[in-house]
Amino acid sequence: MSTNKSNVTPMMAQFLEIKAEHPDALLFYRMGDFYEMFFDDAVAAAEALDIALTKRGKHDGEDIPMCGVPHHAAEGYFLTLIRKGFRVAVCEQMESPAEAKKRGYKSVVKREVVRLVTPGTLTEDSLLDARRHNFLAAYAVIRDQGALAWVDISTGAFHVMPCSGAQLGPELARLTPREVIVVDGSDTHWAETVSENGATLTTLGASAFDSTSGEKRLCSLYKVGSLDAFGGFSRVEISAMSAVAEYLDITQRGNLPLLRPPVQEGQSAAMQIDGATRRSLELTQAMAGGKQGSLLHCIDRTVTAGGARLLERRLSSPSCALPVIHARLDCVEYLTKNTQLTADIRDQLRQVHDLDRALSRLALDRGGPRDMAAIRNTLGQADRLAQVIPAGLPDTLATAARDLTGHDDLLDLLDNALIAEPPLLSRDGGFIAPGYDAELDEVRKLRDEGRSVIAAMQAQFIELSGIASLKIKHNNVLGYFIETTATHAEKMLAAPLNETFIHRQTTANQVRFTTVELSEIETRILNAGGRALEIEKRLYSSLTQAIVAQSGPLGTLARSLAEFDLTAALAHLAVAENWVRPTVDDSRAFAISGGRHPVVEAALQKAGQPFIANDCGLTEAPIWLLTGPNMAGKSTFLRQNALLAILAQMGGFVPAAAAHIGIVSQIFSRVGASDDLARGRSTFMVEMVETAAILNQADDRALVILDEIGRGTATYDGLSIAWATLEHLHDVNRCRALFATHYHEMSALSNKLDGVENATVTVKEWDGDVIFLHEVKRGTADRSYGVQVARLAGLPPAVVARAKVVLEALEQGERSGGTAQKALIDDLPLFSATPAPAPVQAKESKVEARLKDVLPDELTPKDALALIYELRGMV
Ligand code: ADP
Repeated sequence: MSTNKSNVTPMMAQFLEIKAEHPDALLFYRMGDFYEMFFDDAVAAAEALDIALTKRGKHDGEDIPMCGVPHHAAEGYFLTLIRKGFRVAVCEQMESPAEAKKRGYKSVVKREVVRLVTPGTLTEDSLLDARRHNFLAAYAVIRDQGALAWVDISTGAFHVMPCSGAQLGPELARLTPREVIVVDGSDTHWAETVSENGATLTTLGASAFDSTSGEKRLCSLYKVGSLDAFGGFSRVEISAMSAVAEYLDITQRGNLPLLRPPVQEGQSAAMQIDGATRRSLELTQAMAGGKQGSLLHCIDRTVTAGGARLLERRLSSPSCALPVIHARLDCVEYLTKNTQLTADIRDQLRQVHDLDRALSRLALDRGGPRDMAAIRNTLGQADRLAQVIPAGLPDTLATAARDLTGHDDLLDLLDNALIAEPPLLSRDGGFIAPGYDAELDEVRKLRDEGRSVIAAMQAQFIELSGIASLKIKHNNVLGYFIETTATHAEKMLAAPLNETFIHRQTTANQVRFTTVELSEIETRILNAGGRALEIEKRLYSSLTQAIVAQSGPLGTLARSLAEFDLTAALAHLAVAENWVRPTVDDSRAFAISGGRHPVVEAALQKAGQPFIANDCGLTEAPIWLLTGPNMAGKSTFLRQNALLAILAQMGGFVPAAAAHIGIVSQIFSRVGASDDLARGRSTFMVEMVETAAILNQADDRALVILDEIGRGTATYDGLSIAWATLEHLHDVNRCRALFATHYHEMSALSNKLDGVENATVTVKEWDGDVIFLHEVKRGTADRSYGVQVARLAGLPPAVVARAKVVLEALEQGERSGGTAQKALIDDLPLFSATPAPAPVQAKESKVEARLKDVLPDELTPKDALALIYELRGMV
């Protein structure tokens, strides 16, 4: 749009100026009670929000497209726009129209962009999933070193870690940030990685990533002389953190959120799980999308939002550090043995609010009295929780228990200052408790007295006028007024009443008056009300300051509450579902007895079906080659073992009768043949790229799960690839692995490779059908039962019958040395799609007709021989 200043209204000039600063955001321009959008923004927003597009005025002779949304409902619109990939610049009126007028006739109300709403910088409860984090990340590279920093501004959590280009994908898959910042003009590969992981890409100029000025900014942000106070950060880590800080500055317009001191995350501490593995194991998200059906959803028994977020974090990054794992397991075990205590803890936690998010909203000045009450209630509840907690808890919980108390000063302050159930917004006042501030009490008394004086006045006026229906009312335009029906108007307007009553307004049925006295009282009430509001505003900001000053201890408290919630939730789950404490050590053991897949088990349970528990032992032979028909339960078995390792190293109990797991440093899970059409790669290509990644990365502490690798290509290609892959895992990677295949030929490998053992999922044949027993046993499957499975699936009988014939021919060919196979296939009669005619409809042959007449019991041996000669002669 061009800006021909000469014929532009002052307001439009202001709009264009502000818009020019935010070319890539939709500008929500505040006009009274509405946010209005103009020009292209209006066209885009009207379509995205499905609201009416109208016109307002002209610009350069053309109509200006416009649309608007009510200011009080804006949050919902923000969310829709953000989901659709837009960002929004919120432009507010910085003064009232009256103030603008004072500056001069025709002055436009001052407006400023106060905030950019982007996916990674949301704080409103209504825009966030309470039980999940909302991360904003920045990726920086200096020479050949990379670093990833991420922040959840709704809780203040700030982290940074070294991260090579190759690790970026897996780390983004772990954190699932909503928005990732990279430097302008950077590697397009990163952009691809970011969007693959479902995040919005944001670019910033190189200066935002400058580590020198960034360090200064961070130091002043945290009011420290050097960042060394928080750990020794590399230049590239500082660069990534700087970009985060810069972006927060830009989006929050200088109103920086509460940021916790940055925490450095080491890479070795967490189990490495790449994006494809996370998806395939459905850790936090089901394949179909959404949380439902994921492991996270299945095991989540937390009762607080903070606990739920901690669970997601732990499940996304299981630990590799034995002391950490043992400490967590000790706590869960303790609570499984004290079920009453666990129930009490959970009961207390149910009353706890989302401390982190309330705090961060207050710090950003987006909170309200209700957030303060949430903090107050939570502090009180933490005290009550502390009272049910006995001495002698395992270390981690004992520490957490200590942090529950010691907030008395803040609790007392909030207890005294706030009413029991304050309103959401501070705007209208009415949230400070009586008795907290003497001055406030005084003006409130004045205001309230004024109100009762008015009530008394009504009686006086009725007496004076003799009009029993006279009333004193209030509205926003006139303030207080006296109202009578039109029938009494004449009397009121005439002497002597007109000496007291001053006419103000006549409507269709009513006439309205005031009196000098009433106006005076009104002014007094208004003044007192205004004063009260002012005082409450002042108290509100001093309370905010008092709370924010305690953000450190409050953050610690929030962590303690989350720790209690998560531990109690895991213990509750373990008891309810009969899970056991796994033995985790630094051996290379992997011995599960009676293992179950929690998600499949839960689904079967709903359908009233049992789940068959299975053992898995990779301690002696680290690789199991699993064969068995489709639908037997191979994938379930493979995945359940990976999930057990993850649950154990997260520090939780596992769905098994017993489990011994030597630390797993990496988990890889691949399922053959899943199309990745979005990226334009063939099934087979995806499979091979992913297999290559495993073979190149898996170390001897990895747990690899390969399900039907090689399925995406011709039989012999597939078989050879699967074969060579297994050999590589065995000889080079030397990892623990579960390998499911439908190539029965591969079971021969176990004779050749010491570390490979055959296992199979058993089925029973019954009346030509297969019955799945879902039992995993050592040994090989005798057949694949593919044809029977196909029949179960409802393939037409003719196809099933034909498949049986082909199969028999192929198997016969194999037995006779294989070379005859092709010939046999060629020899097979041509397939006929029409089913074979039923016998009753068949025309009787001569032989049959003759046989029908024979009574075998009456034939002598000689007759019989003669009959055979006769029949022979007929064919
Ligand atoms: P495969 O990979 O061999 O084709 P799946 O693992 O996909 O088979 O399992 C097929 C179905 O069998 C599952 O959806 C589940 O309902 C059922 N199933 C699998 N394992 C078990 C088990 N251990 N106990 C009971 N049912 C099972």
